[in-house]
Amino acid sequence: MYDVIIIGAGPIGLACGIEAKKAGLEYVIIDKGCLVNSIYNYPLNMSFFSTSERLEIGGVPFISHANKPNRFEALEYYRRVALSWDLKLKLYEEVNSSVKEGDLFTIKTSKGTYQSRAIILATGFYDIPYMMNVPGEDLPKVKHYYDEPHPYFGQKIVVVGAANSAVDVALETYRKGAEVTMVIREDGIRDTVKYWVKPDIENRIKEESISSYFHSEIKAIREHEVDIETPEGVVTLENDFVLAMTGYKPNFSLMDSLGIAFQDDPMHTPVFNDQTQETNVENLYLAGVVCGGLKTNKWFIENSRVHADVIIADLSAKLK
Ligand code: FAD
Repeated sequence: MYDVIIIGAGPIGLACGIEAKKAGLEYVIIDKGCLVNSIYNYPLNMSFFSTSERLEIGGVPFISHANKPNRFEALEYYRRVALSWDLKLKLYEEVNSSVKEGDLFTIKTSKGTYQSRAIILATGFYDIPYMMNVPGEDLPKVKHYYDEPHPYFGQKIVVVGAANSAVDVALETYRKGAEVTMVIREDGIRDTVKYWVKPDIENRIKEESISSYFHSEIKAIREHEVDIETPEGVVTLENDFVLAMTGYKPNFSLMDSLGIAFQDDPMHTPVFNDQTQETNVENLYLAGVVCGGLKTNKWFIENSRVHADVIIADLSAKLK
């Protein structure tokens, strides 16, 4: 029996755990994977766009070699945060559902059942990739997550997408010896691409060292080829790997099962009080990037770590 169960041990779930501990609440943080599972699954060579002090939680200083830390430094940092705050964690335990009866939530996980007076959902958006829904998408050569460039040396790869992940993957694999073609639905690289990276990709496309098809979509994937629907008709390319950097979305079915309502908007934004982070379900709160629904570039660590203070202030006043 807990005062609050925090679902998700990402940076924001950890921040909520710290605030709950400071407020003297009985809490536990449950994650389906390892500590900061999303960051663990980021590309190995990624650097954050935020400077390290903007990723800090719980007052623990984050020192990195450069202004903007990399994945390895972030993993080290959040492990240290968990240790120094001695956070109560249950890792490799997936939350499958929760039912509210009276004032109590009963939460079912892959390992057991818990009860709590409140829930904080901090499950992010990195677990469910957008599928292209084309034949061949289930072939092993199609990846929705990218780790490092080495396997793609000397290979013909198609990168799908025009946002930050697609651009980073295209540039990194090109520079490590892959033959890269980008397939992009829109008419250009997205304006949301990091301003210091956008000219680089646009110039590589212009000089044709990276090939590109705009206003185009993958239609079918076979073991050694892909079909691309372009404005000029279907083009078939020889192909070894497809890196589908098509984005990710929150786990809406878990949110539905918890009774969370959604706004009637294209972004499928969950309903919550922006002063307290409480959803339409009393004592069920949202924290971190999950708050944005499909708008995954609205919330980041740096602007959502404050959710932890807001939620625990509201909750501890109610539970007193
Ligand atoms: P997450 O870190 O995604 O944590 C969610 C956790 O919930 C995960 O550990 C997951 O395993 C767990 N979970 C999910 N479902 C369940 C379930 N059913 N049961 C139990 N556990 C579950 N933000 C910045 O501020 N600065 C940056 O520079 C930056 N760079 C980024 C670079 C990349 C490549 C990406 C993808 C994102 C970046 N972001 C950045 C955004 C931000 O870092 C991440 O989205 C951040 O991890 C969000 O924190 P979170 O705690 O809200 O969610």
